[in-house]
Amino acid sequence: MKFANVSGRATLVIDGKAVDIEQASDGRIGSDPMVYSDLELHSELAELAASVDPAAWPTLDPATLGAPVPRPPKGFGVALNYRSHAIESDKDIPTEPHFFGKTENCVCGPYDEIVVPAGRDMIDYEAEMVIVFGRTCSKATEADAWSYLAGVTCGQDISDRGEQFRPPVKQFTIAKTYDTFGPTGPYLVTSDELDNRDGVGVQGRVDGDVVQDGNTDDLIFSVPALVAWLSRFITFRPGDLVWTGTPGGVGEARTPQLFLRHGMILETEVEGIGTMRNPVVER
Ligand code: ZN
Repeated sequence: MKFANVSGRATLVIDGKAVDIEQASDGRIGSDPMVYSDLELHSELAELAASVDPAAWPTLDPATLGAPVPRPPKGFGVALNYRSHAIESDKDIPTEPHFFGKTENCVCGPYDEIVVPAGRDMIDYEAEMVIVFGRTCSKATEADAWSYLAGVTCGQDISDRGEQFRPPVKQFTIAKTYDTFGPTGPYLVTSDELDNRDGVGVQGRVDGDVVQDGNTDDLIFSVPALVAWLSRFITFRPGDLVWTGTPGGVGEARTPQLFLRHGMILETEVEGIGTMRNPVVER
């Protein structure tokens, strides 16, 4: 199934049509876009998807799309999780993952503006696949990890490199969770919709130029490994997000370096999910 937040309402997307979940279910399921992050509702949502006539519903208007999970209870990102990014960052390949927080305030939609705070000149992009938890998850094993997930979406992990590496103490969380630094979307897609959930193409483009082009089969720590490692000590709930890391090609590691400036367009495409297109503004 493919879900979207259409003008703040939970929506099933079928053949390009926007099926309003509350209306189609005669009110049995609510309109809050957080509902489809709850795996308990997925069997009912699947019945709904099978029973509606998409032709009776309006064509989806991309301009109406918000973040598919607008209020994640918590969120994390992985610091180095693609071999290509570890190599360009001149770091050893980690033997265990390193995480930082991404809080609700940073989440915005697939076509929303990314705001570069006035005067900050090292704002970088990171194209990523984002996983969405769908039920309470504690002490998962790698074998059952995917069963805890409502699905996946496309994301950006925007970073202020100046703040992230400001000496003497690095601070990833603050530098990566400014307002608008977590665009997500356009859809939440259940993993059964992906041709290969462990090998998904991830691409970033700045003003149409491909700057990142990777695949989650290059992850140092796979989705199941991340879920198992994190849930040893942290209990996850429906709607919690994890940005799974970024492939090589980030702006900081390029020669010359490439940082986000007012007027640029950042596109992020994840295979089987879709493409986000976020304009960059400075203010
Ligand atoms: Zn990242």
